[in-house]
This record gives sequence, C-alpha cells and structure tokens, in this order.
Amino acid sequence: MRLELVTGNVHKREEFSRILAGLGCPFPVEVLNVSSVTERGSTYYQNAYRKARAGLLAIKATARERCIVMADDSGLELPAFGSIPGIYSARFEYAHLREREAMTAFLRDQQVSCTPARFVCQMVVFVPWSEPCFSCEGIVSGFVTPEPRGSAGFGYDPLFVPEGYSVTYAEMDTGLKDRISHRAVAAAKLWSFAREGLGLRP
Ligand code: IMP
Repeated sequence: MRLELVTGNVHKREEFSRILAGLGCPFPVEVLNVSSVTERGSTYYQNAYRKARAGLLAIKATARERCIVMADDSGLELPAFGSIPGIYSARFEYAHLREREAMTAFLRDQQVSCTPARFVCQMVVFVPWSEPCFSCEGIVSGFVTPEPRGSAGFGYDPLFVPEGYSVTYAEMDTGLKDRISHRAVAAAKLWSFAREGLGLRP
C-alpha cells in the first residue's frame, strides 16, 4: 500500500510524509506528477478534485492500483482584502513580484501592521477500488505580519502567525508546524478515513 500525492510541489510531499508518519501511517507518500492538470477551478475543491481525478486515471492506466490517490489545493486568505489570494495563492502577483514577495509588498503598500488571515487545505482522495471520492478540509486561522520572519517551510510561511502563537510557521521547528498546520488538520481527517472507512491498518 502506498499514498500517491498528485503534486508538483516537493514541500507538500515532504510535509504530508512527515505528518502522516507522525500520525502512525506506515505507508509511503509518493509523488504522482500529472503535468496535464491545470488549476482552472473556482474553488479549492474543484482544483483538488481535478488533480486527484487525473491522478486516479493515471494510476488506473498503469494497473498499479494498490494505493490511495490524493491531492490538495491550498491557499492563504486575507478576509479584510476580499480573501485574496485564496485559490490564486501560488500565482499571486503584485508590483511585478510573485507569491510571498508580492504579498509583502502588498501589505506594505496597504500600510497594514497585522491583518487576520487563514490557511486552507482542501483534500480530495480517490481509492481505485471504491467510489466515490472522499474529501476533507483543514483550516487554521491567525494573522499575517508585513515583515517576513523565519526561514523554515515554504511559500507564505514567514508571514503567517497561527492563532495562539507568537511565531510564524517559518520560525517554528518543523515538528510543530507538522502538528498544527492546515495540512496537518486535513491529513488527520484523511488518515482517520483510511483507518475507519477503508480499514487500513499499520
Ligand atoms: P497549490 O495548492 O498548489 O495551488 O499551491 C498553494 C500555494 O499556497 C502554494 O504555492 C503556497 O504559495 C501557498 N501555501 C499553501 N500551503 C502553504 C503552507 O503550508 N505554507 C506556505 N504557503 C502555503
């Protein structure tokens, strides 16, 4: 048994691997690169569904079906600014900058000191021998700071301070982010489905 994660993002694979291992999941997480999938949906769910479905079809074509196929779509949302960048987090541009640098410049121009934010991770999971798909979500609220802090993680990690903490995701040691993040919340639901719903045991 293995878990096939449809992604081109190496950080996501590393996080899911560590998180699921920490939850007691003994199965390896492997990357399934389906280059034909584009994120054209208007919701996290649609994007995650498209990725996972494409992964399922790729797996079925190889007849190596003893696996679970999963994909996530995730993003950062700033409610005070219409919940941007949301599903466009990976492609967020501002002042000719991209992603974190763009967000830093945006917050500076808005003269924002700190603003509420949340991270969302939507997962869709296909099991080749059983339909329909399973989906779950992890959401972590907090705020973003205009000055990046910390060097761990990826993406917007240096800007996001989760509720109840005074450090950004990027200032946490990896183990802490793995236990409390939006991805950790979604992965815990996935592993619970795999154990209770599918009967997968270590
Ligand atoms: P996608 O899910 O592949 O569309 O990409 C989501 C984008 O959201 C990433 O490229 C990052 O910019 C951002 N993102 C999602 N999860 C995280 C996280 O855990 N830390 C930092 N940035 C994240």
